[in-house]
Amino acid sequence: MFGGFWRRNLMASGEGLGAGAIPSPLAKAPKLNVQAPYWYRFDVGDAEVTVVSDGWQMLGEPSESFLGVPKDEVRRELTDNFMSPTEMNIELNSFVVNSNGKLTLFDTGLGGSKMFGPKGGLLANSLSAAGIKREDISAVVISHGHIDHIGGIVDENDELMYPNAQVYMSEADFNYWTDERQMDLPWKKTFIVHARKNLLPVRDRLVFVKDDQEFLPGITAVAAPGHTLGHTMFNIQSNGQSFFFVGDISHHSVLLIENPRMEFLFDTDAKQAVQTRLKMLGFLAANRVAILAYHFAWPGYGHFVKAGDGFRYLPTPMNMNR
Ligand SMILES: [Zn+2]
Repeated sequence: MFGGFWRRNLMASGEGLGAGAIPSPLAKAPKLNVQAPYWYRFDVGDAEVTVVSDGWQMLGEPSESFLGVPKDEVRRELTDNFMSPTEMNIELNSFVVNSNGKLTLFDTGLGGSKMFGPKGGLLANSLSAAGIKREDISAVVISHGHIDHIGGIVDENDELMYPNAQVYMSEADFNYWTDERQMDLPWKKTFIVHARKNLLPVRDRLVFVKDDQEFLPGITAVAAPGHTLGHTMFNIQSNGQSFFFVGDISHHSVLLIENPRMEFLFDTDAKQAVQTRLKMLGFLAANRVAILAYHFAWPGYGHFVKAGDGFRYLPTPMNMNR
């Protein structure tokens, strides 16, 4: 039954379609080459959540960042999931929660850094496209001190991007990623220079969050160490509903999920990161609680379920009706 389809589409020969056999349509149009705005809005209880993208972090060859298994295993898992085995671009899913009349931004993107390519630094554009004024944001919450999470706290002139916001993060990550003694590897030097540029100007408005502390109404910190020493997840609750912002508990919706024992190049303590990932994925799957992941395919909102020795990520369908 697929004989004709096979010949025309898969063998791509075009033979048999005699010129002039089928009349050409009259209408023509150029390609538009523009995309939809890079924000997405949904409700959790009485809170309004707006995912506002900072764009892409370009990792290049995946097997150089995802470690602890043979390179062929990384390529096979990506190929099996119809993803490029040679070029990886991960999303930067910052988001704003409007709850109790206050706006809280979670993570700030790469800012002006081009360490991971030219496709990041879009957060200010995404916020304004979503109708959110930066000066109306009263809290900036940081999952950890890495360049792609703290990078957009100040602009290229070192002016505060969120001039009316307190900044919340773990003390361990502030101390580590502003410490020039940690510049032992080239990538860490770049991370620390950028962290100092962004975090030192807000030193007097930093609030250090502790494990299991509800530090803002409905927002609770959950220590998730390993990727960095002070890496923190956040539970966001409103009117009986909740979700977890899992930060960088996993950098990919397949690789560190189907095989959660895989390691990631930028982990401070990769063994501890694996243990934390196993514990948190197990908890989130068992409780069927929604998650937002910073680096998953846009907009990064869904659930984890147990699958064999690992897990699977099931994205929540986007709802474009409000
Ligand atoms: Zn990250």
